[in-house]
Amino acid sequence: MVDKKVRVRFAPSPTGDLHVGNIRTALFDWAYARHTGGTFIFRIEDTDTTRVTDEYIAAAIDTLRWLGLQWDEGPEVGGEYGPYQQSQRLDIYAHWAQKFLDQKDAYYCFCTAGELEARREAQRAANVAPGYDGQCRDLSEDHIAAFRSEGRLPVIRMRMPDGQTTFVDQIRGEVSFDHKFVPDFVLVRGDGSPLYTLAVAVDDVLMKVTHVLRGEDLLSSTPRQIRVYQAMGLTEDGYPTFAHLPFVMGQDNTKLSKRNGEVSVNWYREAGFLPEAICNYLALLGWSPGEDRENVTMQELTELFTVERVHSSPAKFDMKKLEAINGDKIRALTLDEFLGWALPFLKNADVIEGSEEEIAMVKAALPIIQERITKLSEIPAMLKFLFVKDFAIEEDSIAKVSDEASKAVLARSLGELTPLEEWTHSSIEAALRSSLIQEMGLKPRVAFGSVRIAVTGSTISPPLFESMELLGKSASLARIAGALAL
Ligand code: GLU
Repeated sequence: MVDKKVRVRFAPSPTGDLHVGNIRTALFDWAYARHTGGTFIFRIEDTDTTRVTDEYIAAAIDTLRWLGLQWDEGPEVGGEYGPYQQSQRLDIYAHWAQKFLDQKDAYYCFCTAGELEARREAQRAANVAPGYDGQCRDLSEDHIAAFRSEGRLPVIRMRMPDGQTTFVDQIRGEVSFDHKFVPDFVLVRGDGSPLYTLAVAVDDVLMKVTHVLRGEDLLSSTPRQIRVYQAMGLTEDGYPTFAHLPFVMGQDNTKLSKRNGEVSVNWYREAGFLPEAICNYLALLGWSPGEDRENVTMQELTELFTVERVHSSPAKFDMKKLEAINGDKIRALTLDEFLGWALPFLKNADVIEGSEEEIAMVKAALPIIQERITKLSEIPAMLKFLFVKDFAIEEDSIAKVSDEASKAVLARSLGELTPLEEWTHSSIEAALRSSLIQEMGLKPRVAFGSVRIAVTGSTISPPLFESMELLGKSASLARIAGALAL
């Protein structure tokens, strides 16, 4: 299908927040579409209505938009081959299921869950590969009528012929499945609702999808999908090209899941990771831009992304690396961009309400923390000393400023700073260095540590002298005096 214009789809079944693995797939689909000048389709696979909710669908849309993975066809955007939500396409799947029945590619199966289980048990006991044994494959009309009169609701099953399915996966090379291990499978449930295997294959054909890039966990469903393509009349040159992306593993080398790591993309969003950092980092999970590069922009990703550079071996999720990349992306922000990201975090943490005055102060303070933070969620704790109404030293830092040595430092600082006429970080630094370090002979960590706690209330703060300049002379002196009085 190489000559056709590329059409790739991201087709999640949102049964919760989209997770890191979903987004890695979405990102590769998006990047592949952008790299080739193709179309990025977003399709919601919600035929399993017991697990996919409207709320999760709305959240998935929001997450993709937030990440900047804009789709060309899909929910809210529309497109020539819509609707792009499977629950709105049920008549289409019913039509094809009926056609497969008529063609004798599929058949009604009346076996009950209990009967199937009993026979599977027998298969296990006999050491036979478990799976549907074909019992209803060739039922006579009379037999079907008898089952119906018993009130049994049939499923529709696809007939898997003997033989094997072989296809070339762009990442894994030639892959073969012996049909001994791909038994006849259900297309439509007893209640008439379609299963994933039917819906996904029908949609990929009708939406003219040329490339299916998706997680490795779906590799084993491919022969069933190919069977559906065949029943729809496609020949091999009409199948989409498959590329199954490697698993994402946790630090413990098992597949990344809720058990061994944070998987929800929303968690990363709330923890203060930038979308560009998430995308940059996820791009490295299974793909590499070459030349040992780790930092890529979204633009570069679209320029450099090729499936040839996707590895087949599993990728390991490394939070430290994600944090490092996030720090880099934060440092690369312009001041106005940084301000835009910082304000919601400060408001949500009730550090500011959002007045013009507060925003001006935030803007003045951001440059001094831009080099220091790795996550936006660190901002409120770093800057709250500038905004608190009832300033108080953090409980566990009080002891660090109430001993005799600290009191001496604070008293001397107050004495040196009170007459300062110019209140800038360099004049503050010069005054404190000459008195505390040179004259009192203290180590900078000890001397400035006490002043830091007195002024900011915490051991963690932006650079001290800049912080004091921003806070202003009278507040700074009042806080030092306050600490002295503890
Ligand atoms: N809807 C499927 C899932 O979320 C993926 C479909 C596909 O990419 O083929 O697992």
